[in-house]
Amino acid sequence: MNNKQQILIVEDEKGISNFMTSVLTSNDYQVLKCQNGKEAVSLTAANSPDLILLDLGLPDIDGLEVLSRIRQWSDVPVIVVTARGDETEKVKALDLGADDYVTKPFGTLELLARIRTAIRHQQKGYNPLETDKISIGELVIDLVKRKITMNGEMVHLTPIEYKILVLLAKNIGRVLTLDYICKEIWGPYTNEHNALRVNMANIRRKIEVNPAEPKYIHTEVGVGYRMMEEV
Ligand code: CA
Repeated sequence: MNNKQQILIVEDEKGISNFMTSVLTSNDYQVLKCQNGKEAVSLTAANSPDLILLDLGLPDIDGLEVLSRIRQWSDVPVIVVTARGDETEKVKALDLGADDYVTKPFGTLELLARIRTAIRHQQKGYNPLETDKISIGELVIDLVKRKITMNGEMVHLTPIEYKILVLLAKNIGRVLTLDYICKEIWGPYTNEHNALRVNMANIRRKIEVNPAEPKYIHTEVGVGYRMMEEV
């Protein structure tokens, strides 16, 4: 019996596809691959892979269209592979239900870390909502007592700052778009990107040693924020 996790690579650039294949096979994943969108949809239906690496620029159907077709029936983790500078595409992909993205050119460690995070979030039994405490480095968020400590010292956050921090922590390792965070914090009818930036600056001032080079919450330029799993 084969217990390896199976990853579908959808990529029309041979060099990148081969690179990803060798990284994945040497890290004990099983690889399926194709070079266009139509095949991606049918291979997903036929094989139910554990994760899909989806290039957005495909020769037949656009990658975003592939993603929305797959999302009609499947919640398989999807990491989109994008070109540098395509921030709008990244946001669209996340809004369509992508779990994450990597930007070309990406490194082996980054790719593997993103895959592990996306698969773990998918697995049943992983539910950070049910934990009482989230610890990252020196930062501890006690969800029951609603208390934040840094190096054992209390951190005083406003209610909004607390909500933002907890939202990111509950999605640890994943990028959340600015729109998504704003809707979760301020409701569906607002677009408070500016208020979010101000609150984020305040949170960083309180939890980061050097707010200009944040370790705990990274900015994904033009996209959103990501709380790191390891610092
Ligand atoms: Ca391509």
